[in-house]
Amino acid sequence: MTSQSSICCKLCFKAFTAYQKLLVHERNKHLYNKTIPHFYSLPQPSSEQTFYYINSFIVLIKKKLGFSRHAVGKKRFSIETFPENVFVYLFKNEEKFKYSPAKHKYQCCFEGFAGAARLKEIFRYDHWSFRQNLFTNTKGYVLLEDYENKYQVKFIWGQTTLSENDREFTLGKMTCNFITDSREFQEKYV
Ligand SMILES: [Zn+2]
Repeated sequence: MTSQSSICCKLCFKAFTAYQKLLVHERNKHLYNKTIPHFYSLPQPSSEQTFYYINSFIVLIKKKLGFSRHAVGKKRFSIETFPENVFVYLFKNEEKFKYSPAKHKYQCCFEGFAGAARLKEIFRYDHWSFRQNLFTNTKGYVLLEDYENKYQVKFIWGQTTLSENDREFTLGKMTCNFITDSREFQEKYV
């Protein structure tokens, strides 16, 4: 992002003298932008490919769920290579999906019981958000809502580019931020 011609808002075509000014402009004018100017270049992933990444996500999030005290709190993990088109097709129609063209970065949040229900639909798996210890009835789970508050699960996709020997190498990475809790349930809880 150093050449003069590239410092231009991809959404309204306003030109800027510095990348930092474009970032400020984007934050002020297009904070909730959903338009992806290069959407045509993102092929629709096959369902096999999509499920490969959904399954990876479920395996990794369950590894973050536990039954002890230190299993409670803010958690995060990344899938170090995650295709952009898979991320876009999973989340592009969601209410809290947004895209920053200047940063080439996407974000999508889910909140509360409504968010939890929506994620069950997207992942096509009702049990994605918890792990149960069958001997103690203790459950480790992703916290999205309790009697006091709503909490978020946030998905972020960003890209790293390496330029070397006249070649560009790009790496797409997905990061997920969420909050976990652990509790003993008296009744069998679904
Ligand atoms: Zn603009």
